[in-house]
Amino acid sequence: MSTAVLDHLQLADAPLLPVVGQELAAPLIQGGHVRYANLDYAASAPAIEEVASHLNEVLPYYASVHRGAGFASQVSTSVYENARKIVANFVGARDDDTVIFTRNTTDSLNLLAGCVESLLKQRGYAEGRSNVHGEVLYLDIEHHANLLPWQALPHRSVVAASSIASTLARVETQLRAGNVLLLAVTGASNVTGEVLPVAELAALAHRYGARIVVDAAQLAPHRRINLFDTGIDYVAFSGHKLYAPFGAGVLVGRSDWLDAGHPHLAGGGAVKDVRLESIIWAQGPARHEGGTPNVLGAATLAKAATVLSALDADDWHNHEQSLRAHLVAGLNEVDGVTVHSLFEDADTYPECGSIGVVNFSVTGYDAGLVAAYLSAEHGVGVRDGKFCAHPLLNRLGLPAGSLRASFGVGSQLEDARRLIAGIQALLRDGLGWDYVVDAGRWVPVNDNRSYPQWAPNTPGTAGAAPCSTD
Ligand code: PLP
Repeated sequence: MSTAVLDHLQLADAPLLPVVGQELAAPLIQGGHVRYANLDYAASAPAIEEVASHLNEVLPYYASVHRGAGFASQVSTSVYENARKIVANFVGARDDDTVIFTRNTTDSLNLLAGCVESLLKQRGYAEGRSNVHGEVLYLDIEHHANLLPWQALPHRSVVAASSIASTLARVETQLRAGNVLLLAVTGASNVTGEVLPVAELAALAHRYGARIVVDAAQLAPHRRINLFDTGIDYVAFSGHKLYAPFGAGVLVGRSDWLDAGHPHLAGGGAVKDVRLESIIWAQGPARHEGGTPNVLGAATLAKAATVLSALDADDWHNHEQSLRAHLVAGLNEVDGVTVHSLFEDADTYPECGSIGVVNFSVTGYDAGLVAAYLSAEHGVGVRDGKFCAHPLLNRLGLPAGSLRASFGVGSQLEDARRLIAGIQALLRDGLGWDYVVDAGRWVPVNDNRSYPQWAPNTPGTAGAAPCSTD
């Protein structure tokens, strides 16, 4: 980002929106507490306060959805179905798009993969019908959620180039070669935060007779998405990254494939009629939402969508870009820190740029050790590891992983400053405590920081749950 752009950004010295846990006190290994600097929004974002209040508002009415004539049941059903409409508006869905509530992005993409599998069977792809497009094309930068479901189907991958322009050219070459049914791309990289030109990719896919699904797990919490305007066929994202951590995700898109797919969760609610020998499956969202739906998850996801939609676009942009610019500039100034990116033209390519994610490594230190140090000695929470994007991390020459700081509407400049100061102190003074690897993770020796008494796994004690850094 140029200095001129930086000058135009106002300092994000206060959160843009209040979130739950803003003033959480984090215990330090050497004693005392500091305000927790949560720089791990890309993994799971804290609840926006308004979203959490809405949960409390809905909770007294909590009852079965679609299954009861009672008052609370009817209110719950109305909340659930209205959430679908709000989410449809949030992503600018077309009138005939289907909105399906799922558990998360992974679930949504697996649901779509199941539909693609059914479609290929119905169209006789396995029998080699020459006029049937049948492959899923994806980039090597994808999160495993947008990679593993496709690997179970006919597929092809493209190694992203060092610029967005050349990556698009590579995608076009593959599309031109024919046979691509679906292009599966991330809206923003969960590793580096760089945004992909999804409207252009959609146009490209359509030009060669393919559809496109955008994994918007990272994009939706930071940028507006519009299926109608961009032509994106399917979009998937998670409530817990969208400031609504109550267990719902969503898949929105064209209904024909979704109605042709084998039900994602066969069971109550997914059927019109059942005999012992035959079933007539429901159409629309019910087909894939078997079992009792997560009404609180859907209601809070919809509330988060409403709150984000009401944000002033410039304020939102300025807040995150100012934090990002300060973090990148601050880290770049520290000798021994490397900030990683994928595309040399990310900042200049139309509709791209980066969301609130910064990826970096510290020379001479294992990423997991730096993350443990930042937490124990500075009360700063970041993510380390390979970010469920192994092909990309391996290609970037980071097989042991790197560090990721991520932020959003509840973040403030002090969070970025605390991270930079922590890294400066590490490179100047070294570690202030001893650390060991335990169950695959770096942990402080003799960790006596205690969890709240209702969270029994005190760190450092036998049986503490190991965290995954994949
Ligand atoms: N896609 C991207 C880009 C992600 O960052 C993530 C989670 O980190 C996922 C998919 C999977 O999301 P979830 O764990 O909510 O299913």
